[in-house]
Amino acid sequence: MQFVDLVKQYDEYRREIDAAMAQVMNSAQFIMGPQVKELETALAAFTGSRHAIGCASGTDALLLVLMAKGVGPGDEIITTPFTFIATAEVISLLGATPVFVDIEDRTFNIDPALIEKAITPRTKGIVPVSLYGQAADMDAINAIAKKHSLWVMEDACQSFGASYKGGRSCNLSDFATTSFFPSKPLGCYGDGGAIFTNDDAVAEMLRALLNHGQQERYRHSWIGINGRLDTLQAAVLIVKLKHFEGEIRRRNERAAYYTAALSAHVKTPGVPAHNLSVYAQYTIRVKNRGALAEKLKMRGIPTAVHYPVPLHMQMAFSPLGYAKGSLPVSEKVSEEVLSLPMYAQLPQSDQDKVISAIIAALKE
Ligand SMILES: *Cc1c(COP(=O)(O)O)cnc(C)c1O
Repeated sequence: MQFVDLVKQYDEYRREIDAAMAQVMNSAQFIMGPQVKELETALAAFTGSRHAIGCASGTDALLLVLMAKGVGPGDEIITTPFTFIATAEVISLLGATPVFVDIEDRTFNIDPALIEKAITPRTKGIVPVSLYGQAADMDAINAIAKKHSLWVMEDACQSFGASYKGGRSCNLSDFATTSFFPSKPLGCYGDGGAIFTNDDAVAEMLRALLNHGQQERYRHSWIGINGRLDTLQAAVLIVKLKHFEGEIRRRNERAAYYTAALSAHVKTPGVPAHNLSVYAQYTIRVKNRGALAEKLKMRGIPTAVHYPVPLHMQMAFSPLGYAKGSLPVSEKVSEEVLSLPMYAQLPQSDQDKVISAIIAALKE
């Protein structure tokens, strides 16, 4: 059994994907080919965002927005400690300080009720993460940001395709970023990412920054990076995006199947009624996580832990000086979460094996 079987997905769309990739290779427009624009137009239409800007990865997407907003030494950016390191890594990389705010016990997303206490005169923006595929409480976060004149960037690297109160993730705040890493809900065949905004001026700057700050050929307005999206990846994504609504539905069907069978035995994902998750992960919570994972492994069931160490407890962030116990919900959750196999093509027979293995292991 596989945790995510990307070959099964390729098999489903093989003819279309092979043709799209061959078209790029026959044109040899590997960098900034027309497929990049075509994808951007489709991504903007899908999310309702005015600008969708393809870039090289989710990490670059986060970095580029911070660069465009001029984030640097002395600035503080509020974010969650319960996420992949990239969210906070880019803040530190620019010499600014990530300020970690604890999460909600139910959704694992940043707790809006704790944000205001963390705001100081140095705070420039808030970076909530829409973890495991469901949007953070963006209305509450946007309201706090507005009151304090801060910008908001949704790290939607796991939530492309999710909905929140009728709006689409990636179009819920000033800026949003997503990742097309192969195992993300919408994945390409290498690295890829995108930035979303309704701000015309920042969008223009972002387009330059991801191409060495260049607006006209060899005329560089700003210091930028090589953060372009490959044409080949754009071609793959154009095909996959056409099938993505169906994949969201199938992921939700699989999540509902797990929840119906498991909710009497373990804590299943908490998704408020105003959210539609894309289930980047289907993550349960158990007290004896290590023992359960080991027993499942012995029965041939792959699992994963997202994430075993919250960022404020990572060695890389030890200079920030957070004490153990300072962000108790994140610390507790990091010891209890366990992600189960989840992808649109996941066979029901695999799910049945996962379910019966969990129930049997918990009885031992
Ligand atoms: C995957 C991920 C990223 C980084 O995306 P890459 O495309 O791998 O650079 C950032 N933030 C979160 C929450 C992610 O899950």
